Amino acid sequence: MRVMMPVAVVLAVLAGLVLLAPGRPSRLAPPWAVEGAAGGLRGVAAQSEAAPTPALVAPAPPPAPAAPPAAFTPAPPGTVPYIPILMYHYVRYVDRAADPLGFSLSVTPEQFAAQLDWLKAAGYETVRMDQAAACMRGAGACPARAVVLTFDDGYMDAYTTALPLLQQRGFVGTFYIVSGFVGQPGYMGWAELGALRDAGMEIGAHTISHPDLTTLGLDELRAQVSQSGAALASALGVPVVSFCYPGGKFNDTVRAVAGESGFTSATTTIQDGPQSDVYTLPRLRISGDLTQQGFEWSVSAKLP
Ligand SMILES: [Zn+2]
Repeated sequence: MRVMMPVAVVLAVLAGLVLLAPGRPSRLAPPWAVEGAAGGLRGVAAQSEAAPTPALVAPAPPPAPAAPPAAFTPAPPGTVPYIPILMYHYVRYVDRAADPLGFSLSVTPEQFAAQLDWLKAAGYETVRMDQAAACMRGAGACPARAVVLTFDDGYMDAYTTALPLLQQRGFVGTFYIVSGFVGQPGYMGWAELGALRDAGMEIGAHTISHPDLTTLGLDELRAQVSQSGAALASALGVPVVSFCYPGGKFNDTVRAVAGESGFTSATTTIQDGPQSDVYTLPRLRISGDLTQQGFEWSVSAKLP
């Protein structure tokens, strides 16, 4: 139908979309990341390809980093609620006796579903780590009752199992990917990561090869931190602004490198602590032997 409209009408409609886009809620990308391929502007880009004109490719004004997408219920202005950050690795079945470590790093699909259902019933809204970090830095609106779901290492079950359970509930998560492991046996490939991206999930960086960063020289440290994010961003066409220390290992130098590499946050395996430093954020480890009651208590412990 649109092709039948006069060109001037098409231009007016598309210009209106461009003007409206920064104010429209989007879970897909923060507004300072509109140059990425994903996000709420994808539809506009596709339409502008259908009717290319100089007016449509003119860049929008630089987006203000102070307004992340409000895909959540905002807290009262000036308040910064504690946002629990949950740490998952696998969502799968593991024989506890045969693989005790694997068991502790895994929750079953049933456990995971029950946890998500309780979060929803308790009024939690999921936000991505980029949104949570903006809130914690005072650079964006804070959700009233939020939780961040993070998934480490990029295992294939993140795509096959975690993703559909999240999507069934309208939830989002942040997936920390080891760039050098993409496509290896047991790990997601670029197609699966692209599906996560397209579903509104955040792709975060987790180094190139998952080393203990505290043991590296400065050059290799910088490469592991910055090149992992750059490789993911380049391959997936989205900004990668969230980082996670492998094994939770960091020191002052590692923290400084994460901060200078363009990331807006870095998460640890510290179980509890303040959220005042966005480069040493604690996370709640959700292990296979955590009961449902234990899960609920842990998540809600910091409610005001
Ligand atoms: Zn890891």
